[in-house]
Amino acid sequence: MKNYKKIITNIYKDLKSIDDPGKVANYIPELANVDENNFGIHISTINNEGFGIGDANKKFSIQSISKILTLTLAYKLIGENIWNRVDVEPSGNPFNSLLQLEADFGKPRNPFINAGAIVVCDILMSHLKNPKEDFLTFCRNISNNSSLNYSEKVAQSEKKSGFRNIALCNFIKSFGNIKNDVDAVLDFYFYTCSLEMSCKELSEIFLYLADETYTNNKNENILTTSEAKRINAIMLTCGFYDESGEFAFRVGLPGKSGVGGGIIAVHPNEFCITVWSPKLNPKGNSYKGMLFLEKFTTNTENSIF
Ligand code: GLU
Repeated sequence: MKNYKKIITNIYKDLKSIDDPGKVANYIPELANVDENNFGIHISTINNEGFGIGDANKKFSIQSISKILTLTLAYKLIGENIWNRVDVEPSGNPFNSLLQLEADFGKPRNPFINAGAIVVCDILMSHLKNPKEDFLTFCRNISNNSSLNYSEKVAQSEKKSGFRNIALCNFIKSFGNIKNDVDAVLDFYFYTCSLEMSCKELSEIFLYLADETYTNNKNENILTTSEAKRINAIMLTCGFYDESGEFAFRVGLPGKSGVGGGIIAVHPNEFCITVWSPKLNPKGNSYKGMLFLEKFTTNTENSIF
């Protein structure tokens, strides 16, 4: 665990009461009900050591962090064919933008913006018998955690207010890159975003991206080394919407954020770390989360670079 405990504790104390200019996401009404003062951190190493502080064990809405899990399952199901449906380039645009889709003929720039994740959900719909159940089982099996679940309230709230996602899905369908019924794909997408996990659970579930030899308790290997490399690479270049360059520049780790205020970051062959603080900066990333991780890699002098 090196000196991580001490460094994490010190940064936590320094940041806990700072003036946070961020704002809790409210475009999904249910997300606005969270206590904005929540602040938790958890690190899990590939040697099965863990350390958490603050609200590390409280479950929250993981939102777009789920895009890594849907991508992982779709990648396992259809292999390299997935890149015919979704690209691997940073979009440089907000997470819910429709702008590039017209010029790109309905092929989303990457799987970590909403357009890309909706196409990934469409792929899953075509290959899973009971998409919601099967995806949940997949997530539970990765980390041997049967307590993982969707939030019905968040999923329904997003369904009622998901106008941009509804537009995205219809627009992509007009280019032929959505094969299933639009409402069914969106319903599934909203549920995947509503998954709830704590910082501890998130750092544990994503160890498969840090540890090449990771197997769950059924002795299943989640990804090959090459597949894990690819997903980490997309996280590094596309994990933070139109702030992906900034995150790589300041933090230097592959990562993924969600509008619930969570951020996970992976150090391949070492650890996975999660920060949760619900107040977001104007680009939709947790203000304190980014600051924490910047200080963490600076003070530990340990990033991938
Ligand atoms: N469920 C959110 C949406 O589709 C996810 C956004 C995010 O976390 O980036 O708008």
